[in-house]
Amino acid sequence: MKRTYDLIIIGSGSIGVPAAMVFAENKYSVLILDSLASPGQGQNKTAIGGIRATHSDRGKISVCQRSIEIFSHWKENYRDDIQWQKNGYSFPAYTAEDERLLQDLMKIQKGFGLTITWLSPEEYRELNPGIAMKGLRGSTYSPEDGSASPLLFTQSCYLKAVEHGATFRFNETVTGFRIAHSKISAVKTNKGVYHSACVLNAAGANARAVSQLAGIDTPVNPDSHEAGITEPVRPFMGPMVVDMRAEPGSKNFYFYQNTEGQVVFCLTPDPPIWGIESRSTSVFLPMIATRMIMVMPPLANLKVRRTWRGLYPMTPDGFPIVGKMREPVNFYQAVGMCGQGFMLGPGIAELVYRMITERYAPGDQETLGSFDPYRDFAGQEVFK
Ligand SMILES: Cc1cc2nc3c(=O)[nH]c(=O)nc-3n(C[C@H](O)[C@H](O)[C@H](O)COP(=O)(O)OP(=O)(O)OC[C@H]3O[C@@H](n4cnc5c(N)ncnc54)[C@H](O)[C@@H]3O)c2cc1C
Repeated sequence: MKRTYDLIIIGSGSIGVPAAMVFAENKYSVLILDSLASPGQGQNKTAIGGIRATHSDRGKISVCQRSIEIFSHWKENYRDDIQWQKNGYSFPAYTAEDERLLQDLMKIQKGFGLTITWLSPEEYRELNPGIAMKGLRGSTYSPEDGSASPLLFTQSCYLKAVEHGATFRFNETVTGFRIAHSKISAVKTNKGVYHSACVLNAAGANARAVSQLAGIDTPVNPDSHEAGITEPVRPFMGPMVVDMRAEPGSKNFYFYQNTEGQVVFCLTPDPPIWGIESRSTSVFLPMIATRMIMVMPPLANLKVRRTWRGLYPMTPDGFPIVGKMREPVNFYQAVGMCGQGFMLGPGIAELVYRMITERYAPGDQETLGSFDPYRDFAGQEVFK
């Protein structure tokens, strides 16, 4: 069995699988190790599939703009249906404060060339006819954003990566590194030892523990979020709805209708629930159902099929950590994707390829500056 590679990727999730595909397509020999039984079985499969470029910082915006290009052309380029739809995102405002925040942010987003407009309540109702009009002050609308299936996308990337020669080893956990002369000389797992020129940490919620194996503390702390999905019904929704208002027990919540007709939904608990607990709770569904029906009353008629709970790999400032470590010098990070790892995935994969092969494109250094592992983490992403 081959034991030496150009690159070893730890984690076959939202980041590791697209990265494996990019490296394999470019003829690099790549080994991907994952503790779980198949690709995308970590947090990737817990994502609800929202994809937007409408962030508040240039780095995340440019990476997600590239991701959207990739997702939206996937079917024509690779022939697999990943359930991409350009349904857009909307942030309806019901308070003066939210309206001001969103309109201020829109100025920044427009400055980055994003297509985003402000709709009056009546214009917004045309897009999302079921929306509650009482107190509605208007809404942002970003028509270029969309959604896709995390499982279908990751599975498709996995098959392309394998087609191009990538090796995946599942049910295999990275347990340590051998480090010599400031370099990782070997990656140890519960089943064997492998060698590579470079090692990429893409271990999601477990990224901190993997970094610690190399003597590095990377500030990624998981917190848990619940989500759910309804039965399929005839299309009746326009863009994803993100309601920014806080209520006791929760901050914002968001939902959209996928290409199968199912409404998929998710809520941000308040206070955050730190840790790796992933069992569904009995409080989530009553809480989010009440909130969803308040903002879109016709949803009361839908039956919920399933709920689940997963982890956001959070960083202190809400920005990913992507970069080359000073020591060991062949160790790279692509971690801390917070609540946006699926949408960032394909764009980050290409960025990581350019970073490791030192074939930088214009703007990469600035993006990598936002994601620098050695930053002070004092800033705050507005839309975590
Ligand atoms: C409810 C919910 C809804 C979400 N909705 C969205 C959304 O709409 N859009 C969006 O973009 N994002 C969303 N997210 C966030 C998204 O799921 C994550 O940001 C993303 O999956 C993180 O990707 P990752 O590759 O870093 O981690 P993962 O996909 O978890 O991959 C990491 C992999 O590393 C493996 N691993 C860890 N340690 C080891 C080890 N020592 N050895 C071997 N393998 C190891 C794990 O088994 C795992 O498979 C959501 C998350 C949740 C919980």
